[in-house]
Amino acid sequence: MKTFDVPVNYRSPLISAIKKKRKESDRMKKDFAPTLLDFGPVQIYLARHFGFCYGVENAIDIAFKTVEENKGKRIFLLSEMIHNPQVNADLKAAGVEFLQDTKGKQLMPFEQLTADDIVLIPAFGTTLEIESKLKAIGIATEKYDTTCPFVEKVWNRSEVIAKNEYTIVIHGKPKHEETRATFSHAAANAPSVVVTDMKEAQELAKYILGEKPVAQFYEEFKGQYSEGFDVANHLQRIGVVNQTTMLASDTQAIADFLKETMIKKYGLSEATIKDHFADTRDTLCYATNDNQTAVIGMLDAPADLAIVVGGYNSSNTSHLVELCEEKLPTYFINSDEKILSKETILHYNFHNHTELVTEQYLPTKEPVKILITSGASCPDALVESVIKKLVGFYPNSKTIEEITASPLSPEGGTKA
Ligand code: SF4
Repeated sequence: MKTFDVPVNYRSPLISAIKKKRKESDRMKKDFAPTLLDFGPVQIYLARHFGFCYGVENAIDIAFKTVEENKGKRIFLLSEMIHNPQVNADLKAAGVEFLQDTKGKQLMPFEQLTADDIVLIPAFGTTLEIESKLKAIGIATEKYDTTCPFVEKVWNRSEVIAKNEYTIVIHGKPKHEETRATFSHAAANAPSVVVTDMKEAQELAKYILGEKPVAQFYEEFKGQYSEGFDVANHLQRIGVVNQTTMLASDTQAIADFLKETMIKKYGLSEATIKDHFADTRDTLCYATNDNQTAVIGMLDAPADLAIVVGGYNSSNTSHLVELCEEKLPTYFINSDEKILSKETILHYNFHNHTELVTEQYLPTKEPVKILITSGASCPDALVESVIKKLVGFYPNSKTIEEITASPLSPEGGTKA
C-alpha cells in the first residue's frame, strides 16, 4: 500500500515498531490476536489493527503539503479534515480556516471566497452541490480533494446500482459528512433514502409491504430521501450501500432484513431475487473491517477493562467502543489528559453524547489487564501517551523504552 508523509509528532516509535513486526510476521492479515505489552504490574493488550488508515494518512499528507507549498494564500477546509481534534487543531494553528462545522452549519459564507483561495475537500468527500458552488467561484477543487478512494468506491457502487434501476438505500448516519456526500452522489443517479439503523430499516420495510400510509413516510424520513421520492414506485427495486465506517454486523443485518422483506413482498426465489433486490456486498472500507475484527480478536484476551482512543464525533471509533462495551467496562477518551489519575477517568458516553467521570476505573489487583485500541483518525502518538500515563501509575513497571527495545520478544515481556 502507498505510504504517506505524516508529521512525525503523530507517530509513536513504540507503536510503529510493533506494527512493523506484526505486519512482517502476518503479511496476509490473518492473525487478529492483540499484542501483549507486559509492563509487569500492568499488562496492555494492543489491538492488531488500529490508528490512521489509508484515507486519513492521504488527507493529512495532502493538507500539510498544501499549507507548506502555498504560503501567503488563504487555505480553507470545507469542514473537519478527519474526526480528530488534535489534527484539526494543528491545521488551524497552521492557518487553515474551516468553512463549515461537522453538521454542515456554515461558519463562513462561500460568497466570501475568491478564485485565489484554496479549499481542501476532506476525506469524507463532499456533496455535488457544494462542489459546484466552489467551482462556480473558480476554485480548483480537484487539486485539493482528499476524498478517500474507499468513499469514492461507495459512490461508484451506487452508480452501478442506479444504472440497473434500483433505488439506493444508504445505511449511514444522515448528518455525517460522508453520508451526506454519498447521499448527494447517489441521489444524482437514482431515488435514494438513508436509514440510520435497524429500527429505521424496519419502518422502511413497512412502507415496502404497504403496512403504513405512504404520506407518513415523508414525515418519518424527512431530510433522508431524495427529491421527488415516490414511495409507491421507488421501493419496488432496491439496493443497499453503506457509510464506510458502520458496524459490520449492523450493516449485514440491515441488508439481510431488507432482502427478506423483498422476498416476502414479491414471493421471490433465489432465481428471481435480483428483480427486486440488488445483489451487492457491504461497502465498509478495509480499515473498518480490520479494526472491528481486531477488536473482536482482542476481546478474547483476559482483561479487566478496555480503553478506546479517538475523536468523540468519529463514527468508526464509536463502533469500536460499542463492540468493547458488550464485554467489558469501556472508557472512550480523546486524549491521555482524560485519565485524571489512577482513580479517576473522564470519558465519553456516545449514546447520550455526554462526558462523565468514573471513579476506581482501574482494579486494585495486579497485574491490571487493559485492552487498548483507537479509531482510524487517531494518531499513534496519542495511544502511546495513554499507555505511558497508565504505566506511570505503577512505579515498578518496565519502561516504554525497555519495551520498545524489544517489541515482540517474550524476554522483553512483549508478545503477539
Ligand atoms: S475509515 Fe475507511 S473510508 Fe474512511 S478515510 Fe479511512 S480508509 Fe477511507
